[in-house]
Amino acid sequence: MTHSTSPGREFLSGSTDAIRIVPLHLPEALTKPIKEAGPATPPQLTYRNGQLLTNVEVFTVFWGPAWNSAPASGILTQVNSFFDAILTSALIDQLNEYSVPGYKIGHGKRTGTVTITTPHIGKSVSDHAIRVMLQHAIATNHAFPPAGPNTLYFIYVPPGTAVVQGGSRSCQAFCGYHDNIMGKIFYAVMPYPGCSGCTGGLLPIDALTSTSSHELCEAITDPVPGQGWYDDVNGEIGDICAWKTKKIGTHTVQLEWSNKANSCV
Ligand SMILES: [Zn+2]
Repeated sequence: MTHSTSPGREFLSGSTDAIRIVPLHLPEALTKPIKEAGPATPPQLTYRNGQLLTNVEVFTVFWGPAWNSAPASGILTQVNSFFDAILTSALIDQLNEYSVPGYKIGHGKRTGTVTITTPHIGKSVSDHAIRVMLQHAIATNHAFPPAGPNTLYFIYVPPGTAVVQGGSRSCQAFCGYHDNIMGKIFYAVMPYPGCSGCTGGLLPIDALTSTSSHELCEAITDPVPGQGWYDDVNGEIGDICAWKTKKIGTHTVQLEWSNKANSCV
């Protein structure tokens, strides 16, 4: 698996590695020349005939005892409120242009939440360990819903824990990602935004809802990365518009690429 970086963009390449991460927020000085030059290839998502999530069922998982006390406990409450509001909002409506025969994208819901303290989570956690935890929890912890075709587990990692995925580290190369296990279990991993590259000048809660909305929209339109709506040069729906934000109600969300509007909306 190889990994390379250029200003403002993050690429993961390898046999199965479509772009699936939220890149770091970089200072304007680094991103500006790219903006002035414009993208070499105009973005256009094309459908690769894979599955989509139609009425997403989000289940939030907060891992580690840190979520039981302030300030993380306040963030936990706000993240759940964010999903309760956003899953029936204009953010989901704007994804309707990516409905295809057999997969009509509509409103979703949050089906529940859980805070887990076992297994222990340390200063860093690998994607492999996250997958092991998730599969074990689905099989043995009755608080977890079974993995259905619309189920999306959102795993929130506590402050002070780095996530390692694809040879890269959160806060050094990415601020979140989504993926799947065998096309059957869909999940997103959200490190706590504890570095400037992952707050992008926003309050931690606003950075976290922005990156969560990025991964939410990507998981809906491209649940098996590269097999749903994808652009070979620019990546998934959220990658094209990374760190451009707007408000829906009181919640900060990221703009998403619209083929129809030919812009981030
Ligand atoms: Zn992305």
